[in-house]
Amino acid sequence: MNEEESNFTIPEQSPQMGDVYVSFGDNGYKTTLDVLQKLPFDFSLLRTKRILVKPNAGRLVAPHLGINTSPEVVAGILDFLLERDIKNIFVGESCILGVKPLEALEKCGIAGEARQRNVEIVDLDAEKPKTVSIPRSKAIKNLKVCKKALEADFIISVPVMKTHMHTQVSLGLKNMKGCLYGREKVRLHQLPEIKNLPKPAKPLDMAIADLAKILFPDLCVIDGIIGQEGLGPSAGNPIELGAAVASFNSLAADIVTARLMGIDPAGINHLQLAIKEIWGQDSTLGNFQVFPEDYEKKAIRFEPPPEKISFEFKNVRVEDVDSCSACLSTALMFLKRYQENLADYFNEDNPLRIAIGKGIGPQKEGTLLIGNCTAHRRKGCVFVKGCPPVASDILRSLMEHKESKKDEK
Ligand code: SF4
Repeated sequence: MNEEESNFTIPEQSPQMGDVYVSFGDNGYKTTLDVLQKLPFDFSLLRTKRILVKPNAGRLVAPHLGINTSPEVVAGILDFLLERDIKNIFVGESCILGVKPLEALEKCGIAGEARQRNVEIVDLDAEKPKTVSIPRSKAIKNLKVCKKALEADFIISVPVMKTHMHTQVSLGLKNMKGCLYGREKVRLHQLPEIKNLPKPAKPLDMAIADLAKILFPDLCVIDGIIGQEGLGPSAGNPIELGAAVASFNSLAADIVTARLMGIDPAGINHLQLAIKEIWGQDSTLGNFQVFPEDYEKKAIRFEPPPEKISFEFKNVRVEDVDSCSACLSTALMFLKRYQENLADYFNEDNPLRIAIGKGIGPQKEGTLLIGNCTAHRRKGCVFVKGCPPVASDILRSLMEHKESKKDEK
């Protein structure tokens, strides 16, 4: 986290502290321990500190789908810390809207690993947040941050390697969005245009760069044992890379990880903005080494997220303006799960029209509007309430509408 908020600064930051370490192996636990052992830092300095292990466990899903961080990776981190007599550890999360953190941590297996080791599991939304001003803000002046995250002396960001339709990838920096309180995450998706923002970056990209100014992880450990490609953040396909990446320099960790995913970091807008905002002209911070040097030999090309959902699903047109990850995930899950049920009803001349997000324009009659944010356009449309709704409710609303139209004929 940033020095103003933290009670602790890593002492004697040697140039090597910014380097990036990569380990390969299909055993998530062993590979994580291996990469942590390479870090040039005396972890005993953290013995009296309060450590937050922040996985990406934002969704209520089973483990090993590449959607949430693998439990074995979190287990490896916990054991590494405990073996060094670091005891004041907690695992915490604030999920996407509609998902309860303790349930999500339980379902993906992380809570079980923490419990086995007597490590506290924390719903970061359980306490009232604190509003933190962002220095040199470009997109958002302040953010409501979960109190427990602010109280940590040292934050370890533990994302899973995955693609994301809104932000190209979701890695170490983006994972810190899960330290924002409840609905505060939505605000990042609904920001006004920013003057002079280099295209194709969006206000959301700059907001993530702003977030990094107040919630920069102290250590980043990226789970690439099983990642996710394509329709991320939650409707893509699992992909086995068998890698773990670690660095005290989260920007460098994200750059290296993007390369391992076969994605050019120069095309990741939030990462480029964060590099500019945080590193600025200070080339010493950007001048890092990667061990092993030939790590890219093991890179696998992750299928990038399609630019538009419509490219992925036949006979579907989607308008997405300012939706947050929760409704985006719901829409993708709905399409993926029910595309066969939908095939009988829609064709090229009569596509399924879907709209998500607060900023959508006027819609054609019969358009499927997903989520409370779209209520202002509901006239003549099929509106599915919820924040976000669940995929089965969307199908039910759509089928009821189809039936009612049949009855009218
Ligand atoms: S309705 Fe959907 S897009 Fe709007 S805030 Fe809720 S989850 Fe986000």
